[in-house]
Amino acid sequence: MCMSRSCPPSIFCIIPPYMLRGIVEHGSAQQRTAAIETILADQTLRQMRTEAAAHPVPPAPALGGEAEKRRSVYSANNQQTLPGVLAREEGSEPVSDVSVNEAYDGLGATYDLFWDQFSRNSIDDEGQPLSATVHFGRGYNNAFWNGEQMVFGDGDGKIFNRFTIAIDVIGHELAHGVTQDEVGLRYSLQPGALNESLSDVFGSLVKQYHLGQTAEQADWLIGAGLFTDQVQGAALRSMKAPGTAYDDPVLGKDPQPAHMDNFVRTFEDNGGVHINSGIPNRAFYLAAVALGGNAWEKAGHIWYETLRDSQLRANTGFLRFAGLTVRNARRLFGQGSDEQRAVASAWAQVGLRVAL
Ligand SMILES: [Zn+2]
Repeated sequence: MCMSRSCPPSIFCIIPPYMLRGIVEHGSAQQRTAAIETILADQTLRQMRTEAAAHPVPPAPALGGEAEKRRSVYSANNQQTLPGVLAREEGSEPVSDVSVNEAYDGLGATYDLFWDQFSRNSIDDEGQPLSATVHFGRGYNNAFWNGEQMVFGDGDGKIFNRFTIAIDVIGHELAHGVTQDEVGLRYSLQPGALNESLSDVFGSLVKQYHLGQTAEQADWLIGAGLFTDQVQGAALRSMKAPGTAYDDPVLGKDPQPAHMDNFVRTFEDNGGVHINSGIPNRAFYLAAVALGGNAWEKAGHIWYETLRDSQLRANTGFLRFAGLTVRNARRLFGQGSDEQRAVASAWAQVGLRVAL
């Protein structure tokens, strides 16, 4: 596992390794084959990404200035090639391929949240073009951000549907790009779980903003719709009730803790980055619901400003991050404000006490 800032983490997959292992251990022959192929492809992609990071390609020049939504969606046509064949680009009409249109709309919804609410011009705040490839591989059970673009598998159709189906998954993946651009949080242990949590926070906000839902109305699930009806589960994760998203004979039970008392120490999943993210996820949910209205307006702003805070470092853990959100709530809304108290209270409820 590469730890330095100059060598970014490999790729950010939405499906954690322990879920795929569950399928390999408990799935049918067909499910196991798809899961093993996904694991093998993920390993190769990580290796390619590590090699690419050692020889970085300069990013496309940004135009700067005004809002620049520039989307390109490609199809790999079930091969493992990137980016594949161009299927739809900015301003063009919908096509007959639903995955292409969902990817296009998801990239757009993510751009819109960041631009409309946080005045951020794309992932790098410099108008970086957004590109995505759909139909990657055959029955590929994952979606990922590789540092340059999004990639979606079709899913095996037995456990997972197509990965473009969940707009919050698209927001989650692109938010990894934003976090990488701002702070490069390490992708292991507590900083890694914060990295995952920030992606869930902004992924959920993308969905809520797209649907026009208040914090009260939102389902606070990550990846709803991704499971087929053969799976006993609603989604990959629940920010509202971590640990309750699924409980399935093949996938096992959602392992997320909701409180520091149940923090999971493991070497799997880069030290539980998709597991312990349940703790900061629930803190965000509690803060957003306590503040009321639209989650992106107050809680979202506080978390976004924390992400941009120069005091946030690559190795920041939960407690320091919690303190920074309280500090930013004070900066935005005032010392002793309801907002500052709500944020501190949310963290206290998951076992992290910070001074006002
Ligand atoms: Zn992620």
